[in-house]
Parts: sequence; C-alpha cells; structure tokens
Amino acid sequence: MPQNHHPFEILKFCPRCGEKTFKPQTGKSLECCSCGFLFFINEVASVVAVIFNDNGEMLFTIRKHDPEKGMLDLPGGFVDPGESAEQALIREVKEELNLDIYDFSYFGSFSNQYLFGGIIYFTLDITFICIVDSLEGIKAGDDVEDYRFIDLKTIEIDQIGLGSIKKVVNELKTNFHR
Ligand SMILES: [Zn+2]
Repeated sequence: MPQNHHPFEILKFCPRCGEKTFKPQTGKSLECCSCGFLFFINEVASVVAVIFNDNGEMLFTIRKHDPEKGMLDLPGGFVDPGESAEQALIREVKEELNLDIYDFSYFGSFSNQYLFGGIIYFTLDITFICIVDSLEGIKAGDDVEDYRFIDLKTIEIDQIGLGSIKKVVNELKTNFHR
C-alpha cells in the first residue's frame, strides 16, 4: 500500500479553520496547530456474509468496481451511520444478491486497508455465518458484477481481491466445519 495514500499524507488542511496546520499528533490522530481541532483515524465498520448452498459450496461475489475489480469477494459492505452491524448485514445481502437472511451467528472480525479515491480507509470486517430463507431468488445487484458458488477445498486464495476477505476464507478453511 503506497505510503502517500495514508490519511496523514492527504489531510493537510484543518476542516474547521481551513489553515494548512493539520498535523499527525499520535499514530491515530491529527491535530490543528492553529485552532486545536482534533480528528481521530478509526477503523470503519463493515460486514461480511458467509452463505453456503445445500452442496456445502460457499457463495462468492465478483467485484464490479475498484479496488480489486473483477476479483472474488464476499457479500457485504460498509455499515451506514446510525445502523447496527446486523441491520447492515441484512440490508447489504438484500441489495447485492436479493437474498433474505433468516438467521446468522458471529464468526469473527478482520482488519483491512481499503484504498478508495486516493485515501486509505482502515476497515474492520465483522463476519457472520448466515442462513438465508431460500437461494431461489438470487440475483446480482447493486455493486456486484456476478456471483458464484465455490467449494472451500478448491478455492484459490489469489482469486480473492481484498486482504481481509482472504483472512476470512483462510480462517474458514482451517477452523470452520459445517
Ligand atoms: Zn484548525
């Protein structure tokens, strides 16, 4: 990840007073030397859905946009302001694949660096094992190019675009048994 995409390199002007006096204060915050405005760089919450079909194959999406356009991904996305992780999970799976989640359980969380619009977002992918009502109405929508079901035993990690999703799949391969 190029260093010049880090927020410390991009955010030079104070968003409150407009002076070019916005400086890294610690490893995770910026402070304006003119007006004292303090801004924290935290992880952005996102959700990931793990869904299997009756043959035990896992549902992957194909990314429609950069970063990692055309690569394998998992259903999910960013949690909107004011939304819970559970609400985001249900919304994203509906928007991307037209599927209704019937039940889910927490699997784990995985950190990532997501380069978008020239700046790195530090993300936390909160991952759930999901059961859907039915796979019959499945349809690629929203920011998904397509979808496919793949056996975890045969998946090649290099086909997966995002680092955190590689971690999710590796963890599932070693520590998850249906
Ligand atoms: Zn300022």
